[in-house]
Amino acid sequence: PDYDALLDGASPMLAQFFQVKREHPDCLLFYRMGDFYELFFDDAVAAARALDITLTRRGQHQGEPIPMCGVPHHAAESYLARLIRQGHRVAVCEQTEDPAEAKKRGGKSVVRRAVVRIVTPGTLTEDSLLDARRHNYLAALAEAGGGLGLAWVDMSTGDFQAQPVDGRGLEAALARLAPAELLVSERLDQDPAARAALGEWRAVASVLPGSRFDSENGRRRLEALYGVAALDGFGAFGRAELGAAGALVDYLELTQKGRLPRLAALRRWSPGGLMEIDAATRRNLELTRTLAGERRGSLLAVLDRTVTGAGARLLAARLAAPLTDPAAIDRRLDAVQFFVTSSRARNDLRETLRRIPDVDRALSRLALERGGPRDLAAIRDALLEVPAVRSAVAGTGPLEPPPPAVVEALDELGGHDALVGTLGRALAEELPLLARDGGFVAAGYEPELDRLKALRDESRRMIAALQARYAGDTGIASLKVKHNNVLGYFVEVTATHADKLMGRDGFIHRQTMANAVRFTTVELGELEREVSTAADKALALEQEVFRALAAQVLERAGPIGLAAAALARLDVAAALAELAAARDWCRPAVDDGLEFEVVAGRHPVVEATLPEGPGGFVANDCRLGPDDRVWLVTGPNMAGKSTFLRQNALIAVLAQTGSYVPAASARIGVVDRLFSRVGAADDLARGRSTFMVEMVETAAILNQAGPRALVILDEIGRGTATFDGLSIAWATVESLHESNRCRALFATHYHELTALAERLAALSCHTMAVKEWKGDVVFLHEVVAGAADRSYGIHVAKLAGLPAAVVARAEEVLHRLESGEQGAAPRDLMEDLPLFSAARPTSMTVSVAEAGPSPVEEALAGLNPDELTPRQALEALYALKARL
Ligand code: ADP
Repeated sequence: PDYDALLDGASPMLAQFFQVKREHPDCLLFYRMGDFYELFFDDAVAAARALDITLTRRGQHQGEPIPMCGVPHHAAESYLARLIRQGHRVAVCEQTEDPAEAKKRGGKSVVRRAVVRIVTPGTLTEDSLLDARRHNYLAALAEAGGGLGLAWVDMSTGDFQAQPVDGRGLEAALARLAPAELLVSERLDQDPAARAALGEWRAVASVLPGSRFDSENGRRRLEALYGVAALDGFGAFGRAELGAAGALVDYLELTQKGRLPRLAALRRWSPGGLMEIDAATRRNLELTRTLAGERRGSLLAVLDRTVTGAGARLLAARLAAPLTDPAAIDRRLDAVQFFVTSSRARNDLRETLRRIPDVDRALSRLALERGGPRDLAAIRDALLEVPAVRSAVAGTGPLEPPPPAVVEALDELGGHDALVGTLGRALAEELPLLARDGGFVAAGYEPELDRLKALRDESRRMIAALQARYAGDTGIASLKVKHNNVLGYFVEVTATHADKLMGRDGFIHRQTMANAVRFTTVELGELEREVSTAADKALALEQEVFRALAAQVLERAGPIGLAAAALARLDVAAALAELAAARDWCRPAVDDGLEFEVVAGRHPVVEATLPEGPGGFVANDCRLGPDDRVWLVTGPNMAGKSTFLRQNALIAVLAQTGSYVPAASARIGVVDRLFSRVGAADDLARGRSTFMVEMVETAAILNQAGPRALVILDEIGRGTATFDGLSIAWATVESLHESNRCRALFATHYHELTALAERLAALSCHTMAVKEWKGDVVFLHEVVAGAADRSYGIHVAKLAGLPAAVVARAEEVLHRLESGEQGAAPRDLMEDLPLFSAARPTSMTVSVAEAGPSPVEEALAGLNPDELTPRQALEALYALKARL
C-alpha cells in the first residue's frame, strides 16, 4: 500500500500505526493498546478469520470505517501460537512509555510505541509455542560462487552450524533437520531447480532480499558477533556457508530487535562421521515421522522413553544422524549398557530427571530478555537436582563402575551451589509469570525491599483502620474505603447516608452514582501517596533484583548449558536402556567389517502393534556378508517381505545411533549410506508420476551406493508393464551385485528373478514361508531359503473382501494361465475363456466351472433359482437368450 497516501488525514494514533506498519508490511501487527493487542485494516480481517474472533470497527479513516479486532494481552500467547501455526508472522508493537508521560507532553501526543519483536516459526522461545520434545531449527540457504551453503541455529541451545550442499545433499540435510523456518533469497525462490530441490520445505520458507545473503557481509557480521578479526579459528567456511550464517544472524537481530540469543561458535557440520540417509529413505523408513507426517507410529515414537524435553530432542537428533565410527558408537552403547545392567541406577536417575525442567529453553528466554521469574526457578530447580543425579548414578553402588561417557557427563554437570543458593534464597515460593508484576522475591533476601513492602502493607492496614474509624465517627456501619484508578482511595457510602457526609469536615464530595456517593479525604490522599510510592519503589527494586539474578545466571550460561547437555545425554542413555530392558533388545556389535548378521531380528514398530507370544511378531535372521551380499526375497503379498526388509534397515540405524536393537544378537559392519526404496509408492502429493519417482530414486542408488552401503529395495519395477518392470528389476539386481557390490535386500514378486541365483555368486534366494491348510493359505511370516512357487495374490484378494464372484473368476483365469499354457498370450486367453462380464450372473454365488463350458452354460451354472426374485429370474432369462 501507499503509506504516504494513507497518512493523509490520519489521526496521530493512526499516523503512528502506519509508520510502524510500513516497516513491517509482511507481518500482522499486534498493536498494544492498554490491555489489548489490537489489529487494524487488512491485518484485522486476516487475524479475525484465522482466529475466529469478532471483527469490529473503530472510527473512520478517509471516509471508510476501520476494521479492527483485538486479543487480550494476557492471553496473547495462545493466539500467537495459532497464527504462527497457520503460517503468519507477527510483529509485536508495545507501548514503550507510561501513558501518563504522553499526557504530560500534552496536546495530541500519543503513547510512544515500538516493535519489540517479530514472531516467526523459527525464532520461537515460549514453551507454549514450542513442542518440548522437538528441536526448532531456523535455517538459511545461500548461494555464492556457484555453490550452495546451508546454515542453521537452534535458539534454545544456541547450537549454530553450517555445511556446503549440492541439490541432493540439500534435500537430505533438510530432511534431517526438518527446520521450522527456512530463509531463502528471492533469487533462489524463483529458480526452478532450487524450487524443486527445496520441495516440501518451500512451505516453511521466508523469502528475503538477496542482499541479506551476501557472503562478505556475512563474514563481517560473524566476526563482529564473536569479536574476532578473522573467522579462521572457527574452521574453513565457504562463501555460501558464510552467506547463509550471516543471513541467520541478521535475521535474528531483525526479529529480536537487536537482542541476540546465546549463539555458540559456528561449527562446520561434518558428515564424515555420519551415516548418510537421503530424504526418500528417511521417508520410507519412517524414522522420525510416518509417511502421513505424524510422530506416532514412527521409529522415534517407539524408541523415545526419555523423561525430559532436552533428552527427547537429543534422541531425535541422534536418530536423524547415526554415526559411522565404531568407537564413538561403542561409547554410547557402553552408557546404555551401564543402565541396562544397573536397573537401580536407571530407575533412580529417571525418577530424578523427571523433576528437571527445561534449562535450555529457560536460558534462551533469559538471554533474550524475555525470561521471567519462573525461568530463574527452572534453572534453580534443575541445578538443584545435580547432586541427586550424581548419587543416582554413582551413589547406589552399581555393579560396575560407570563407563567414560557417563563419567564425563557427571563431570560436566559441574557444581552450581553458589548460584543455586542465591536463587533459592531470592525466589519466593509462588512465582508470577512476568517479572513486571513483581511479587517474586522471597522475604529476607533484600532488606530494603522488605522494608518497602512492609511500608506498603502497613499503609494498607492503616487504610483498613481508617475505614473503621470513619465508620465509628460517622455512625455509618456500611461505610467502605475503596480504590480505583481515577479517584485513588475514596470513601463510599450508600445514597441514603450521603447527607451525613456532605459538608462534613475533611470529606470532599467527588462523585454521585445511582446508589452510592463517593468522597475523598486528606488523610486518605496522604496514605495513598505513601502506599503508591512504597509499592512503586518495591516494584522497581524487584525489577532490579530480577535483572541482577538473570545476569548472574547468564554469566554462568556456559557451564549451565554444559550441565543441561550432560543431563540430556544421561536421559537418552537411561531411556534407551529402559526400552532395551522392557522389550528385550540386545547390544549390537558394530565393527569395521562388511558383515550384517542379525539373529532373530524384529521390526520395532510392527512388533509393538502385535500381541506378545502366539500370534505375535515372528523373528527372522538376516546374514549378509562378502560372500552373500544380495538377498532376493520373494513371497506373496502380505507375507511380510517389506517388514523384513525395513526391520533390517532400522536395526542398522538403531545400532549406529548407539541403541540396543530388537534382535537376539546383531553384528553390524558399519553402514556408511543407507538407501531404501519402495516401488510405486504413492508420491502423488509431490506431483511426480510414481514410476518416475521410483526410477529417479533407483538411479540415485545405482550411482551412489558403495561397498559399505546397505540397500533395501522393495518391489522395484512394479510401476510399469510386466516385461519392462521385470527387465528393470533384473538389471538393477545385476548392477547391485556386480558394480555397487553393496549389501542389499531385494524384495520382488517377479519369481523369474530367482534364476539369477545361478549366475550371481554372492546372491541368494529367500522366501516367506506359507502353509496351505484346508484350502486356505496361512502366512507364517518366516523367512526361509528358496524361492516362492506361488504368489497367492488371489488369496490376499479374498482376504481383502473382493466379491466372491471376482475371486472365483480370478482363480479360473489363473488356472488356465498355469495349466501347461505357459506363455499363453492374453489374446488367446480372451478367446478361450468367457469374458467375465458375460459370465456375470445376477445371483450372488458362482461355482468355479471346469474348463470349456460355453458362456450360456457358465452363466446358467452360476444361477441360483432359490435366491432369485421373479423379476430377477425374468431378467436372467433375457440375458441368457441374448447370449445365444
Ligand atoms: P509384504 O511386503 O510381503 O506385502 P508386509 O511386510 O507389508 O508384507 O506385511 C504385511 C503384514 O503382515 C504386516 O502389516 C504385519 O501385520 C504382518 N507381518 C509382517 N511380518 C511379520 C512378522 N515377522 N511377524 C508377524 N507379523 C508380520
